[in-house]
Amino acid sequence: MITTHTGNRDTSRFSFEFFPPKTEIGEQKLAEVHRELALLKPDFFSVTYGAGGSTRDGTRQAVMNIHQAGSAVAPHLSFGGSSEEDIRALLNFYKDAGISRLVALRGDVPSGTGGANSFYYANELIAFIRRETGDHFHIEVACYPEIHPKSESYDSDLFYFKQKVDAGANSALTQYFYNPDAYFYYVESCQAAGIDIPIVPGIMPISNYTNLARFSSSCGAEIPRWMRQRLQGYGDDAESIREFGIETVSRLCETLLQGGAPGLHFYTMNQADTVRSIWQNLNLSER
Ligand SMILES: Cc1cc2nc3c(=O)[nH]c(=O)nc-3n(C[C@H](O)[C@H](O)[C@H](O)COP(=O)(O)OP(=O)(O)OC[C@H]3O[C@@H](n4cnc5c(N)ncnc54)[C@H](O)[C@@H]3O)c2cc1C
Repeated sequence: MITTHTGNRDTSRFSFEFFPPKTEIGEQKLAEVHRELALLKPDFFSVTYGAGGSTRDGTRQAVMNIHQAGSAVAPHLSFGGSSEEDIRALLNFYKDAGISRLVALRGDVPSGTGGANSFYYANELIAFIRRETGDHFHIEVACYPEIHPKSESYDSDLFYFKQKVDAGANSALTQYFYNPDAYFYYVESCQAAGIDIPIVPGIMPISNYTNLARFSSSCGAEIPRWMRQRLQGYGDDAESIREFGIETVSRLCETLLQGGAPGLHFYTMNQADTVRSIWQNLNLSER
């Protein structure tokens, strides 16, 4: 198991992503997971925003619960089918509540939702946020080392990423990936394209192969063949999948931090255990 100290732990930033729960039991569980992960002292938590704004109230509630429990938190936000008035109201709500960081996205608009505002790209949302609230928010954006599944080309994806930076993005969180070379090559390509904001790798822990495979094919994240073979071979043996996942993802994180990644953003899937094990393997509590 990995036990080395990694990266520049004084300046690196670490964050944990949640999705808004749909039930009261889910809410209680998330409060407990938040309590457990807050002990690791991440720089901030973030809460996703459902496709097309479907979780607007749930996201806001989860954000406020985390904020009131004393943690820094960044709501995810996209136009979806919402009007400028709705988004303006939400921005003002967060600003008045003392929230100072946002994750600004185009979002995945569910099929069947129409509306004139369904096609706001993220750079347009960022420009809107800057127009409405100036420099109040630190704006995170999404980016894709293995390239967004709907992009025309590698270069066009970089071009549109640069547009988000020019519109006022402060830093970026990547889609998850399991091949560190894809990240390092991407960071170099971004630098060559004049993108100079920190690009923090998104990390997806592994606990269920079927779900991971389904999600990865829809969001364009590659599971390397050797990992697929391993995971498929474990079948229903959840404990072996868990152990392999912790070991593999810990090694990935270590390689990324040692290679200069400016932090890690964990897609927790509202679970504390796997993330905590990876955290311990990396000795991040000593940062
Ligand atoms: C860290 C992270 C967090 C996420 N959180 C959420 C969430 O909370 N809720 C959710 O629904 N989804 C979330 N997603 C998924 C994300 O919404 C989808 O990947 C979505 O399809 C793209 O969002 P974006 O902000 O990257 O879009 P954009 O940056 O707008 O890009 C979308 C696509 O359009 C292209 N493009 C961009 N601008 C233009 C333009 N002006 N003209 C033509 N093409 C353009 C890009 O190359 C890309 O292919 C997240 C993804 C990441 C990596």
